[in-house]
Amino acid sequence: MFRILIAELKQETATFNPAPTTYGDFQIHAGDEILRAYSETRTELAGAFDVFQKTRTDEIQIVPTIAAAAVSGGRILDAALDRLLTSILDQARRNSDVDGAYLCLHGALAGVSEVDPEGHLLTKLREILGDKPIIASIDLHAILTDRMIEAADILVPYHTYPHVDHFQTGRRAARLLIRLLRREIKPTTARIPLPMLVRGDELITATGRFGEAIGMCQVIEESAAGLAAGVIIGNPFTDVPDLQSNVIVTTDNDPELAREKAEEIGRFMWDNRELFQAQLTSIDEAIQIAESTDGLTLFSDAADATASGASGDSNAILKALLGREFSKTALLSIAPAVKTAFNAGPGTRITVPLEGTRDPDRFTPVDVAVKVERLFDGPFEYEDGSEGRPGRVAVLVAENIHILATENPVFVVGQNVFKAHGLHPEEFGVVVVKSPNGFRPWYEPIAANIVPVDAPGSTSANLKSLPFKNCVRPIFPLDENVVSPFVARDSDSSQGA
Ligand SMILES: [Zn+2]
Repeated sequence: MFRILIAELKQETATFNPAPTTYGDFQIHAGDEILRAYSETRTELAGAFDVFQKTRTDEIQIVPTIAAAAVSGGRILDAALDRLLTSILDQARRNSDVDGAYLCLHGALAGVSEVDPEGHLLTKLREILGDKPIIASIDLHAILTDRMIEAADILVPYHTYPHVDHFQTGRRAARLLIRLLRREIKPTTARIPLPMLVRGDELITATGRFGEAIGMCQVIEESAAGLAAGVIIGNPFTDVPDLQSNVIVTTDNDPELAREKAEEIGRFMWDNRELFQAQLTSIDEAIQIAESTDGLTLFSDAADATASGASGDSNAILKALLGREFSKTALLSIAPAVKTAFNAGPGTRITVPLEGTRDPDRFTPVDVAVKVERLFDGPFEYEDGSEGRPGRVAVLVAENIHILATENPVFVVGQNVFKAHGLHPEEFGVVVVKSPNGFRPWYEPIAANIVPVDAPGSTSANLKSLPFKNCVRPIFPLDENVVSPFVARDSDSSQGA
């Protein structure tokens, strides 16, 4: 009988968002409650449980400990991070007689002081479990560190963007863990760091060039000696010292093959680096495009994407629309300007400062004369069935602009966030979503035009607009003439020839 310790710790930290993440932002499950909460989902943990349950019943017993996950946000406060790490490690100490561990991680956590929480967690877990197998699954937006690679036997990354393979990733990780427990394999990992940050549509694995690199990883995983492979591009909004892109390939006791394959994929990524940048349109130009478009123009404001960890209270596009002649109607959202509207009541006309207050270095409030059209209080349902928690909501109208003001930041990706509050996106000339790509299934059917807008914000795809202080330098595209990571290797081989 193999007893397997299970833990989850996930958040994608956006360090350019000044609002910190607190302990209360994490949804936490403990012990058997984890099984109940996750079994019916499409998550990594569910995928792993599926494999464990289908393995001979007398062979595997799982020991669920703590599962903690939060939506994206600013750096995690030290006390909060400490409490999370300590609770997982305490459980591991109490169960140190397990035979192995599966950790479900994101990989891009950042505390105020600890910039590599996953490396810390894996290293401490290694100290507790000795040489017993440890496998971790990670997001391909993870910040890969030496500590993570050294402490884990195998890291198993996602293979899709937008991410739709959580369940499969958990299955891949669980299968490898069972092979390790049975002593069938001896993993060896090669890593090729790439001094590049990437963004843009070519990263969509189903349609973009990045999908070819992932395809190469999958061929390796399907080969006899291949165990795990991935391109860990890092979350560009987690500005910590190890932020860059990486290729990792793990083989069964064949370090040369791992090296060779990792280098092949690394070269492919490096050679295509110019392609992996976002093509953005200025706000003014975007408004002109909307003006001359028949039907709905969708503005993608990825810079204020709450799903990526931004504050959700950007008023940049609102200001631009108010400041010029615009003959059509517009629909946008903003957090958290609702208090005055609630005091005034529906039907009243008021002048309110519209945010941002959460990210005051980037946005200053603008006074807008509005009519309070409708007020709401309470949750609504997103397209995937999960609950949106906007707190109090006010629908405000400033001439031709409808503004959805929410007390708390919400995901503005699908249509339900608007429809739940009586606003129908197809009736507008412009709709602003706060999302880089996830909006597409909901808006492609109704939009005549989709424009990725170059607005300011803590999660801007215009990477040069962000105040990077900590990441690997020099790095593409922030710096000029970044030296190819393959230059030394190439000149070595030419000297030898
Ligand atoms: Zn991700």
